Amino acid sequence: MGKKKLFSEETVRVDDCQCVYCGHIFHGRNACNANMDCRSVTCPKCNKDMNVFISVEYTCTPLEE
Ligand SMILES: [Zn+2]
Repeated sequence: MGKKKLFSEETVRVDDCQCVYCGHIFHGRNACNANMDCRSVTCPKCNKDMNVFISVEYTCTPLEE
């Protein structure tokens, strides 16, 4: 992998994808066609492909006794 100009090494958003190349924000589910096994998406603005990791986060905190 050579040095490429990136917007960010990694972007993390809940419902949207943010392009690592140009920073464009687009709807993640639409980009993946609602496929949770989707492994890559294409930025609709710069047309570059990037890896995507889809997860649902659960945050747990202790009960107050
Ligand atoms: Zn882009």
